[in-house]
Formats: sequence, structure tokens, C-alpha cells
Amino acid sequence: MIIKCLECGNTFKIEKVPNDNLVTCPVCETDYSVQIEDGKAKVTDFVYENEDFGEL
Ligand SMILES: [Zn+2]
Repeated sequence: MIIKCLECGNTFKIEKVPNDNLVTCPVCETDYSVQIEDGKAKVTDFVYENEDFGEL
């Protein structure tokens, strides 16, 4: 399936969605979380949840 990078507009192909749903754009190295919706790959920005800014 084809993934379109939201950051740089590059398109790249993945054979299948990895177990952790994590893909990386080969051009700008932005990480994305992939979900399959209606047979199409949908990407959202991957959020690193271990960065906790809750105590400001
Ligand atoms: Zn990119």
C-alpha cells in the first residue's frame, strides 16, 4: 500500500502494516502511526507518549 507523508509530501510503499503500526518516511524520517480504514492506509502523526509535559 502507498503511504503519503504529511510532512514532505513524499509517497512511499509498504508491503504491510507492521505490528506496532509504526512507519517512517524514508525522506524526512517522520514517524507515522498507520491505520487501515476501508482498505486504505491512513496515517497520523506518531506521538511519543513518554514525553510528559504535564507538570509545568
Ligand atoms: Zn516525509
